[in-house]
Amino acid sequence: MARRLLQSQLFPPAWSLLLRLTFAVACLPLLFGCANMRTAPSLPEEAQLAREQLIVYSDFKLPKKHRLVEELLALRGDVSRLLDVPVSDEPIHVYLFEDARKYHEYIGKHYPDLQDRRAFFVETDTRLTVHAHWGDQVAEDLRHEVTHGYLHSVIPNMPLWLDEGLAEYFETPRGWNGLHTAHVQLLDSLANAGWQPNLASLEGKTQLHEMTQQDYAEAWLWVHGLLSTTRERRLLLQNYLAVQRDQAQAPALSSALLASEPDVSGQLLDHLRQLATASRVE
Ligand SMILES: [Zn+2]
Repeated sequence: MARRLLQSQLFPPAWSLLLRLTFAVACLPLLFGCANMRTAPSLPEEAQLAREQLIVYSDFKLPKKHRLVEELLALRGDVSRLLDVPVSDEPIHVYLFEDARKYHEYIGKHYPDLQDRRAFFVETDTRLTVHAHWGDQVAEDLRHEVTHGYLHSVIPNMPLWLDEGLAEYFETPRGWNGLHTAHVQLLDSLANAGWQPNLASLEGKTQLHEMTQQDYAEAWLWVHGLLSTTRERRLLLQNYLAVQRDQAQAPALSSALLASEPDVSGQLLDHLRQLATASRVE
């Protein structure tokens, strides 16, 4: 996810258009000789699919009832029910590139800091936008980024760790109950070497570039522990999100959690070990 990028960054500047026109004019006399002189990449806009909150733009024909789109629509209800938050009708604009090279060219030009990412979400004052390409991990990528869209359309100013932890939870296929096996394996091996979860430390990370792969995994573990263990923990998270939604800020969740469960980090490690054992047995 990329936070609060300027609206102007969403669109190619005027000189970019001029450059493209110059290429087009320069190519006219050469015709076939211009095969390697590509025009500047642009957003896919050739097809549109509007379903509930999602408006999908793609540079290839996407079937109206594609199961991935259906899954993204169902995800909206899953997020709302599990977190006890309302749904919004604010559109989430999803730009899908068929070709990874075109995607990276476009992102490199307009979002150079995010060039290495397979997909990302952008919130501005007026738009919620997802960019992705149709690769092997597109389903996971879209579930992750569209989750950001659903959350940001109803909850302002989400803490980064929770925003990413929830997106990691909901990026898993439907029916997995948020179980992220790659994160379980990573954290289990770290725990065997003495690692301990520390929510207060995670809460201190407010910039995307501060978040490591381990941080994403830990954020997921906290969310999974809160949503999948006891009713009290799930209610604590739901109440936290309700305050965040109403007031655009809430006291650190680690304070409330430690007040009710002083050894919550140790219990989260137990939860991790149970998940790791279950995944080895399967
Ligand atoms: Zn994310």
